[in-house]
Amino acid sequence: MLVGILAFQGGVIEHKQMLGVVGAKTVEIRTPRELRGIDALVFPGGESTHLSKELDESGLTLKIFRLIKKGLPVFGTCAGAILLSKKVDGKKGKFPFVDISIKRNAYGRQVESFEAKLKVSKLGWFPGVFIRAPIIESIGKKAEALAFFNGKPVLVRQKNVLVATFHPELSGNKRLHEFFLQNVALQ
Ligand code: GLN
Repeated sequence: MLVGILAFQGGVIEHKQMLGVVGAKTVEIRTPRELRGIDALVFPGGESTHLSKELDESGLTLKIFRLIKKGLPVFGTCAGAILLSKKVDGKKGKFPFVDISIKRNAYGRQVESFEAKLKVSKLGWFPGVFIRAPIIESIGKKAEALAFFNGKPVLVRQKNVLVATFHPELSGNKRLHEFFLQNVALQ
């Protein structure tokens, strides 16, 4: 299994390490050519507006959009989740494949970063590392929430796309990457 990792910014190395631990090969993606041969794709965190600009300037946006539409499994964390949301701060998202409305930087300045123990369905307890995280304010019927924090979904799946508003790559726990490979990518 070859997993591409969008490599403009964010936890690229950490995702790479986690995916390596669970037995996947990885390739860093910065140009359309590098998409060739990938079986799945990871959108790391960072700054969604910056990532969006890099995606456009590199010519990746349309290529990736088509691949996701065709069923390419994608795992988006934090800013990556923002890019995959149907609505972002009331506007249409970049890759609107997950039927959720998300609000950026919604925990506010006082609580920029925090950790919370999350109960993930079928997986059990998982350490949630939140960094300037967005909040998923509403979720549509087609999407399935797999974990909640304060009553709001923080891990959501819709078909071939899995999004987390937290950072599993920084948690020291490989189980969500494993879950992605086994349950989303290998289906
Ligand atoms: N605050 C960032 C954004 O709005 C996301 C933060 C992150 O990825 N850790 O894009």
